Amino acid sequence: MDIMYDAIIVGAGPAGSIAAYVASKLGFKVLIIDRFRFPRFKPCGGGLTQKSILLLRSLGLDLNGVVRDECRRVVVINSAGSFILTDNDPIITVVSRDEFDNYLLSNALELGTDYIVDRVVSVRTNGGDHVNVIGMDNTYIGRYVIAADGANSIVAKYLGNDIRRNTAMAFMTIAHGNYFDNTCVIDMTRIKWGGYSWIFPRGGGGEYDVGIGSIHWDNYRAQLIRYVRDAGLREGEIRGHPIPIKSRERITSKRIVLVGDAGGFADPITGGRAFSTPCIVAPWLHWH
Ligand SMILES: Cc1cc2nc3c(=O)[nH]c(=O)nc-3n(C[C@H](O)[C@H](O)[C@H](O)COP(=O)(O)OP(=O)(O)OC[C@H]3O[C@@H](n4cnc5c(N)ncnc54)[C@H](O)[C@@H]3O)c2cc1C
Repeated sequence: MDIMYDAIIVGAGPAGSIAAYVASKLGFKVLIIDRFRFPRFKPCGGGLTQKSILLLRSLGLDLNGVVRDECRRVVVINSAGSFILTDNDPIITVVSRDEFDNYLLSNALELGTDYIVDRVVSVRTNGGDHVNVIGMDNTYIGRYVIAADGANSIVAKYLGNDIRRNTAMAFMTIAHGNYFDNTCVIDMTRIKWGGYSWIFPRGGGGEYDVGIGSIHWDNYRAQLIRYVRDAGLREGEIRGHPIPIKSRERITSKRIVLVGDAGGFADPITGGRAFSTPCIVAPWLHWH
């Protein structure tokens, strides 16, 4: 017999896994579906703000074992020169997304969330008391769907959103060599306007997350390689991914809600912090 879940979460990135963690903690029967088996790679700078760390801690997620670096010093370079931010607390905490996302998913699974590897191709609501989530391998049934399937969200498209609208683009690479330790660099001068570059240390060993992002869709690969080499580093594989920076036009229907990048909730200035939305959304299940 098919299981009827209280909530099916599509996508096990930070938004999906945090939603699964909170909903399972509240006693709901939850299924999370991701097209990849975890740990999996996600192009990202891996920089978490202090606000994000406090939010995760308040949920009981202390990130023990997955913090790669803590920058109490951030060098900001702009056209007028440069300045240094310092604090006793880390200003940017650096994680590796494969480890961080796997940690969040594991915490949800420990609370009883079911996890299936499948690629969701469609959802069907048919106006009834449930939603069918159609995967390549199977169909899953839930009372509600929390869509956390990222920037190219199938579910956001199903709700009628144009997922290419209001989307920034960012490229990154894991680079090697000698640069600053425990210091994050944010450089506004490499792109004319509407973007920035970063170099985030990944815990010693001469490894750095280096990237470039902009609200203008362009191929920044060549610029990124130049940036890496100007810093005296060697680039690895270059990976790009869109970042939706404006809330989608339609983020809910009666039984579906979009969270994280699927909903377009990345900060429009920094391109980060999209994953905090599910903390509001999981309790939403209670109100129905
Ligand atoms: C180069 C780059 C650098 C960035 N740097 C930072 C940073 O330093 N700090 C920061 O806070 N943010 C950063 N961001 C933004 C950040 O990566 C995203 O906002 C964040 O990953 C959003 O989390 P999410 O859980 O909503 O989506 P995602 O992390 O994209 O997770 C979506 C999940 O859904 C799964 N999925 C997708 N489609 C399907 C499907 N059809 N069926 C099943 N599963 C599916 C995917 O496999 C994936 O696991 C960066 C983004 C980029 C591109």
